[in-house]
Amino acid sequence: MNFLITGAAGFLGAALANNLVRDGQQVRGLDDLSTGDPQALDKSVHFTRGDVNDRPKLWTLLQNVDCVYHLAARVSVPESILYPREYNAVNVGGTVSLMEAMRDVGVRRVVFISSGAIYGKQARQPLKEKNRPSPDSPYAVSKLSSESYVRTIGELWGIETVSLRVFNAYGPGQNLPPSHPPVIPNFIRQAVRNGSIVVHGGGDQTRDYIYLDDAIQAMVAAATAPSIDGQVINVGSGTETSVRDLAQMIMTLTDSSAELIFNPRASSGVDRMCADLSLACEKLDFEPKISLEDGLQRTIQQDDRFALP
Ligand code: NAD
Repeated sequence: MNFLITGAAGFLGAALANNLVRDGQQVRGLDDLSTGDPQALDKSVHFTRGDVNDRPKLWTLLQNVDCVYHLAARVSVPESILYPREYNAVNVGGTVSLMEAMRDVGVRRVVFISSGAIYGKQARQPLKEKNRPSPDSPYAVSKLSSESYVRTIGELWGIETVSLRVFNAYGPGQNLPPSHPPVIPNFIRQAVRNGSIVVHGGGDQTRDYIYLDDAIQAMVAAATAPSIDGQVINVGSGTETSVRDLAQMIMTLTDSSAELIFNPRASSGVDRMCADLSLACEKLDFEPKISLEDGLQRTIQQDDRFALP
């Protein structure tokens, strides 16, 4: 099959692109390199630098494409609170541009990578797709709004659509920006340096951490799975872990003497997050295979940035 991946040079995009070419698929990648690194891509991926809002470029890249994976986005929740206009322009505007270009060229299916963040605070866990979303950041709003655009434009123009609500994905190669870094690579970096690990709030908040290879398994399945048109599907580990336990696990695995500091004044986000995977199991034959401990071990071993001195 012929694929286009937007955001192909990013953490999830590059792993997906490399996985698909290893399976003998034809893959084009688009990324503006605002955070992505094209060096992460296998030589067989046809990479183009460009903006997801550039429709003429999309028209060219979409020729003869069977399935699009849409990942290009700004991805930081705290940054989205500071710059909501930018998050709207890239995440929502980019999605609409892509759907319009797909309509113009004629593409069969799009797999949109949404986020578990759209659920926000919910009374019950695990989180089911039919729960009413309660997004609590411009990032989450941009993902929920993009889900609606994808489904609506898809229905209007006969494009098959599926939105995967990926929970907290982690693994080797995850972007580690200086401000507001994602929790797992940040904790590992601090642990291997024997620095301080700062936990926001009391550390009792739970999250659903899914290892990269498991997330990619679900994404690959979504390109060809039957009867998923118009669906939103959770992709997580189905297990919830407190941030305190995560920090302890990372310290044990790295044999670290880092100091664990709790910052009660920092917002710790929603209390609990855990994905219900029934629909993913039914529609994508999805079953996470890698435990958190195993995934953390692989991340520590395979990511050069965490090489132990
Ligand atoms: P990432 O930042 O590594 O990847 C995003 C990529 O999009 C980057 O390579 C960036 O350069 C590119 N990009 C940004 N703006 C662009 C634009 N205007 N035009 C073209 N490319 C642009 O982040 P990631 O973790 O790989 O996330 C990929 C997708 O998965 C995002 O849509 C994100 O919202 C979604 N997601 C990620 C997670 C996670 O835990 N990593 C969880 C849920 C959803």
